Amino acid sequence: MADKQFELVVIGGGPGGYAAAIRAAQLKMSVMLIDDRQSDEGTPAPGGTCLNVGCVPSKALLDSSKHFHHIQHEYKDHGIRVKDVEMDIEQMLNRKQGVVKQLNSGLIQLFKANKITFANGTGRLLADRQVEVTTDEGTQTVTGEHVILAAGSVPFTIPGVDIDNTHIVDNEGALAFSETPKKLGVIGAGVIGLELGSVWRRLGAEVTLFEAADAFFGGFVCQHWAANQIANRPHLGRACLALVVDIDLAAVGQGHTAVVGQQVLARRATPHRNQQAIKGGLVVFVAVRVADFDFRAADFGA
Ligand SMILES: Cc1cc2nc3c(=O)[nH]c(=O)nc-3n(C[C@H](O)[C@H](O)[C@H](O)COP(=O)(O)OP(=O)(O)OC[C@H]3O[C@@H](n4cnc5c(N)ncnc54)[C@H](O)[C@@H]3O)c2cc1C
Repeated sequence: MADKQFELVVIGGGPGGYAAAIRAAQLKMSVMLIDDRQSDEGTPAPGGTCLNVGCVPSKALLDSSKHFHHIQHEYKDHGIRVKDVEMDIEQMLNRKQGVVKQLNSGLIQLFKANKITFANGTGRLLADRQVEVTTDEGTQTVTGEHVILAAGSVPFTIPGVDIDNTHIVDNEGALAFSETPKKLGVIGAGVIGLELGSVWRRLGAEVTLFEAADAFFGGFVCQHWAANQIANRPHLGRACLALVVDIDLAAVGQGHTAVVGQQVLARRATPHRNQQAIKGGLVVFVAVRVADFDFRAADFGA
């Protein structure tokens, strides 16, 4: 039997879930929001992928790396000479985490201010809009007149490739390198790959993007700058990301197209094109996320 009844129960506290919960509460509905994410210290960390391991930390690192890049390559155009510039990666990561923590607690305050019942745990949808809520304190069942599933996304897994977050990383790993990788192979030239690829490129990594589509997001890579533009402004080249498009992403990790040790062997989807190999001390960043379908299969009791 259900313990408590709400007009709305939201499972997932990312931008999709928390915005819906807050708006419903502002419209005077009784709302419960359930989110399972916790910080490294075990405190609730609402805000989903975006706040914790996506948009927000990524922008924090883009900001830090932009300053470093400008000091090194842009300031002298302004007549500003700076000697002995060093990057303190640990401090950069601490600052990023500070920004995330502050916004986590800001959200919790917002939930309180809007009288939302917030549970830091796992929600599981049962029959008749009942939701089983499991937190550190135990399990209870609540009923929602309406239930919103806002489970978000999880990192894409390539068959046979073990994301160890050291040599092969997802977006969480790419937000937390303790030193700049010498070479970084980024699988996926979407927002995630371009943003975090740019961060580590600015900090000195040699970055190659692998993209399944023939086109890609944005215009920030070397190939899309006219050669003479780069010749006139050589520092642009240092910010460039090398791009290999038309990669058969589904095949990466299988057969002859593989992430092997610290190499990427990526087969071109168009048959007449060659296989591309990047070798030697490479860290591979799988910059692709997919919808959290397991959530639906498991939690509808299917
Ligand atoms: C590096 C990076 C940069 C990005 N930059 C941008 C950007 O600049 N602008 C932009 O618009 N988007 C950006 N995104 C995308 C953005 O993060 C997502 O679009 C957004 O987070 C999706 O929100 P969501 O609420 O659907 O899901 P999520 O943010 O993934 O939130 C879902 C939440 O539900 C929780 N959950 C899942 N199952 C359960 C369950 N059973 N019980 C309880 N909780 C559960 C998850 O742990 C998670 O906290 C970026 C993403 C990345 C990785």
